[in-house]
Amino acid sequence: MLIDVIPIRAFRDNYIWCLQSDADAVVVDPGDATPVRKHLESTALRLAGILVTHHHADHTGGVAELASEYNVPVFGPATEAIPGLGRALREGDVVPLPALGLTLAVIDVPGHTAGHIAYHGHGMLFSGDTLFSAGCGRLFEGTPAQMLASLDKLAALPPETRVYCTHEYTTSNLRFAKAADPLNPAVDARLDQTRVALEAGAPSLPSTIGAELTFNPFLRAGDPVVASMAARHAGHPTPDRLAVFTELRSWKDVF
Ligand code: ZN
Ligand code: FE
Repeated sequence: MLIDVIPIRAFRDNYIWCLQSDADAVVVDPGDATPVRKHLESTALRLAGILVTHHHADHTGGVAELASEYNVPVFGPATEAIPGLGRALREGDVVPLPALGLTLAVIDVPGHTAGHIAYHGHGMLFSGDTLFSAGCGRLFEGTPAQMLASLDKLAALPPETRVYCTHEYTTSNLRFAKAADPLNPAVDARLDQTRVALEAGAPSLPSTIGAELTFNPFLRAGDPVVASMAARHAGHPTPDRLAVFTELRSWKDVF
């Protein structure tokens, strides 16, 4: 079965990713029901399920409405309050999506929220607000150590894995990457590529794990230039990857 993954735009900069065959669709993080309903009506696709990465309203606002309207299962993190949650997931669980012939694996990625999960399989990663292109989520509920461990898990996926995150933050993330990793030509190349995509009205996504490893400063805390820029910004030594990552995250919060 040929599966397409297409972005449904919501709010200012959210993407509700829609995995679809020629008959069925599964949406990830539907923060708003209206654009999803419009997409389903205009394509005559049948909604077969809803995947949720974490509890924030811009990811869950349309879940209850869509789940009851289309009578479909809601998959989401076991430890967070998700409206209409039918299948509570934690790392090691698998999500069967028989309508699409797919099975996705669940990865625990705490940091942005305490119970955040990601979905991985068939060369795709749905990373929610954990891994963005050229960035990572803010630490609302977790520690830098948790987020670094979560990002390390995602960074270890096969390099060709396509990364579908929930926000179009690539340009502003790359502006920070220019400051944190100033000698890296991959940052400029990604900026050019992103500008071309956005000017054409297309998303900058999906990215890939392999590409992120070349320009995402939050995956590059072990790089000597990134480490020295973090230490310079901190005004004190950042002796290990965790110290570098911690400084990068708090620097980005005020960048
Ligand atoms: Zn969030
Ligand atoms: Fe979000």
